[in-house]
Amino acid sequence: MKLNPELKKQLIQVTLISFIVFLFTVSISIFIKSRQSLPNSLVTRRDNTRISSTEKFIPNQELNEQQRFLDTINYQLKNIPSTDTYEYILLRAYGTIFINQNSEIKLPPKVILDNEQETETFQQNLQLTLVEGTRECYLQTAAAEAFNQARSIIDIPLKSGYSGDCTRSYATTLRFWQKYTNNSTLEQVKQGKETNILSLVAPPGTSQHLWGLALDLGVLNPAQKRALNENGWFQTVVKDTPHWTYLGWDEESLPKFGLRDKTVQGITYWVTPI
Ligand SMILES: [Zn+2]
Repeated sequence: MKLNPELKKQLIQVTLISFIVFLFTVSISIFIKSRQSLPNSLVTRRDNTRISSTEKFIPNQELNEQQRFLDTINYQLKNIPSTDTYEYILLRAYGTIFINQNSEIKLPPKVILDNEQETETFQQNLQLTLVEGTRECYLQTAAAEAFNQARSIIDIPLKSGYSGDCTRSYATTLRFWQKYTNNSTLEQVKQGKETNILSLVAPPGTSQHLWGLALDLGVLNPAQKRALNENGWFQTVVKDTPHWTYLGWDEESLPKFGLRDKTVQGITYWVTPI
């Protein structure tokens, strides 16, 4: 049978189009399958936009605590520092904050704010609120409200009563650092040779007090500690007893994100597992 040339041409076109559609469908289904086979946490890490502001990231509980912590902070931090760096030392010391997922708070984009200018730019974007009953203690609003709530249960005094107990400027953190250290201390911290100092004072640009999410408080009894814990505030820097951090979770949630409890001299701190 001899086909009409026009019909033959149409038949070839239809066959070609069908083949292309077939190839497209196969590659799409292979792509979807490959994404489904990844652990949930990895899928989320690759596409943070899938998490809405009200939805919380809970890491895969089958992972070990270090991996749960890293997956969680990967959701908040743009870059996780590599293990042999100064940034990693600071992440270990002060990084509990990055599990905070309260949608109203802002976390710094990195562990170290490099200078006064960078700190000011970050702080200008914070919504700060004066803590009730104080003259100059400012915190990010959600942290201030949680602290007010704790203080509505029981009175909790600030450590000094001055603004330095709460949100600090870069210049203040620099002054505190210089007060307790000498010229070689920072270099020793960077080389990992000196870590004790981190319980006493944070290197310039690294204090949780720059982020509006930390408080230094006066002597505390168990009832005051309980009121703070119930409102998302925890001691997170071992041996820095007056220092409290707003993690924004209840205590039983903290291990979900890999945090470890560490009791030193009768005080329980929640620390990073790295
Ligand atoms: Zn402090």
